[in-house]
Formats: sequence, structure tokens, C-alpha cells
Amino acid sequence: MDLPKHVFFEGKIVPFEEAKVSVATHAFNYGTGVFGGIRGYWNDEKKKIYIFRPYDHYRRFLNSGRMMNMHLPYDEESLIQLTLDLIRLENWQTNIYIRPLIYKADLGIGVRLHDLRDELTIFSMPFKQYVKNDTSAHVTVSSWRRLDDNMIPARGKISGAYANSALIKTDAQRAGFDEALVLNQDGHISEGSAMNVFMVRDGTVITPPVTDNILEGITRKTAMELAKNELSLSVVERPIDRTEIYICDELFMTGSAAEIVAITKVDYRPVGKGEMGPVAGQLRELFSEIVHAKNPKYAHWNVEV
Ligand code: PMP
Repeated sequence: MDLPKHVFFEGKIVPFEEAKVSVATHAFNYGTGVFGGIRGYWNDEKKKIYIFRPYDHYRRFLNSGRMMNMHLPYDEESLIQLTLDLIRLENWQTNIYIRPLIYKADLGIGVRLHDLRDELTIFSMPFKQYVKNDTSAHVTVSSWRRLDDNMIPARGKISGAYANSALIKTDAQRAGFDEALVLNQDGHISEGSAMNVFMVRDGTVITPPVTDNILEGITRKTAMELAKNELSLSVVERPIDRTEIYICDELFMTGSAAEIVAITKVDYRPVGKGEMGPVAGQLRELFSEIVHAKNPKYAHWNVEV
């Protein structure tokens, strides 16, 4: 793994080796951190990295912090500036992943959210494909359930909540699947371990609503806008029954790490014709062009490093 040389840590940029926390750190013991996952894409013609929708990512990041009683002297713009300063120092010439994290930094025992110091850290690293079979993924329906808003809000990207994602992912992969879709407490489909889900039925693009224990994905929002505006499809947010994914025409997942992944089989049942469909295919092409800053119409989503 290519590790970064620099990290934003406790208020300044330090060498990677110096960015260390204690074993007694609150967030390390109790999962009291919130994080982001942002991608930067290398444009080989311009010889530059473009960060995709950082404002939206940092808005969600700060909102996750709000849910966890976190207070930091940064807004979206200053976080973008810190990120640019850091990445310029690294001088990556490839696609990267950027990981900002706010964590409860006090040392000692005592589970709570209040009267604790919050710290920010940001690092970046080279990043390739996240889901191997991204044009022909085989997923299962997880036996784990998605966390409910009244347990740990899925709407926040909260460190501790990713124990749920880790259980889902490992059991799916050990059973031979690429990923899993997770049901809510009421039995409706929520999302994957770290990606949102969409299905296409009779020409309509359908995805679970934000009240169905999902992370409000930036790639989800992007895919919805592109499906509407570029593919002229109607996009509907509504609960999805488990058996609908067995009979739909197309199924795909979206995420910053995962990008757009076509699901062609669910629990050994072929989705549609059993191969990547036209909606997922066209969205993948558009998405790739846009994130690499090769589509002027969407240049406002690309922040040049
Ligand atoms: N759901 C979960 C649980 C995730 O961790 C992610 C990845 N951040 C997503 C959905 C997709 O969100 P985004 O498109 O903003 O990366």
C-alpha cells in the first residue's frame, strides 16, 4: 500500500510517522469519530488531480460532526483549502482517496459525547478499484440488519457504525459474493456495506429514500441528477421490497470508493438479462468522464488541485 508522506494532524501538516494517537484515545475505544471519503482523479492530459464534489462531502462531514456533538473551527471552504494544501505537498500523479476524520481526542475511560476535545485529521493515498467485478457483481442479501436512525444514525458517517458495515462485508465475501445489500428493521432494502443502491423497473430509476437508514451518498445524488438530466429517466425515491430486486431490470450500487457498480446476480438469481444493463452502462461512462474533469457541463463539480 502506498502511504502518504504528510497528514493534517492536530492543527498542522506533519510527517505521516508523527500523526499518532494514544491507545487511550476516546474515539479509538468507543468509535466516536466521523469521517469522509472523497476521491481525487488524475487527468492525464492536464496532468492534474481534480477532487470530486468536495463541498458536498465536507457539508455531510460537518453534519455528521453535528450529530456527534463535535465542534471545530472549520467550514466547508476552509476544509477544502486544507485538503488542497495537503495534496499539493504530496504531489500524487494518480487517482487518490482523501480521508478526513474528526475524532473525540481526550484520553481515558468514560463513554459520552460531551466535554471532550475534538480533533481533525486528513490524509490522502493512491486508490484504485474498490469492487473487483464492477460490471458484473454478484451480491447477497445480508443476514445482518442495517442500523436504525435511533441506534446509530446511518445518515452520519460515524466510525463506530462501520462495525455494522464490516460484519456485512466480511460475511458476504467469505460466502463468495462481491457485496451484500442490507435490510432495514422493517425488511426493506437500505444499501450496501459502503454504497447506495438503485434498481431500474420499467424504465424508472428507483432508490430508497433518505429516511430508510442510508448514508446520503454524494454519488447517489450524482447518479440521480445524471439519470434525470442526461438520460431523461424518471427517478423515484421510495422503499424497495426484497423481492423487487429479484425481478427488476437493472440493479447497481454507487459510492465514492465503489463508483458505479453493476449488479448482475442476486443470490444466484440473474438480474434482468444477467448482464450489465444500459442505464448502469451509460451512467458509468458519464460518471467516469465527469469525475476525470472531461465534461465541461459538470466542471463545477471538479476542484482542481
Ligand atoms: N453508504 C455507506 C454506508 C457508505 O459508507 C458510503 C460511502 N461513503 C455510501 C453509502 C456512498 O456514499 P458516497 O457516494 O457519498 O461515497
